[in-house]
Amino acid sequence: MVGSLNRTCLVLNQNYEPLSITQVKRALCLIYLGKAEIVEQYGFGIHTVSNSFTAPSILRLLYFIHIKRPNLPLTKRNILKRDKYICQYCGTKNGPMTTDHVIPKKLGGKDTWENLVCACVKCNNRKGERTLEQADMELLRHPKRPHFFFIVHNLVRIPDPKWKQYLFLE
Ligand SMILES: [Zn+2]
Repeated sequence: MVGSLNRTCLVLNQNYEPLSITQVKRALCLIYLGKAEIVEQYGFGIHTVSNSFTAPSILRLLYFIHIKRPNLPLTKRNILKRDKYICQYCGTKNGPMTTDHVIPKKLGGKDTWENLVCACVKCNNRKGERTLEQADMELLRHPKRPHFFFIVHNLVRIPDPKWKQYLFLE
């Protein structure tokens, strides 16, 4: 039973926008308190001495909450994850990956999601401290700050395929 209670549950805002991920234990509290309703259930139940429940997989809050999501930390690991460990210059997946400043630091380039990309060692060395134009190189795609759904998709194991439609992964 303890294992089932530690399963994760996707929490949707009142407007069905994904909000957070919580444990089944906490999800059951929200339902008990009348703050949320069950949208989807897992195929198993939870039995306690006096009660039995069907484990919720997706919950929807019955009230709307305005939330400012925490920013994903800008780290080498997260840059590489965002770019799926693909060199953004040549497209290779081979070899150790580095992060490259699109506009080099020497030329005023900043440490931002928009200016850092995953690059293989070869491309990083080839580009050196030059701009794309100077190096005559192109990016596979324009680097952006990852969306909240990226975090859910990449950093959390999705325990139920039903989540995908709510996370716009289908
Ligand atoms: Zn490369």
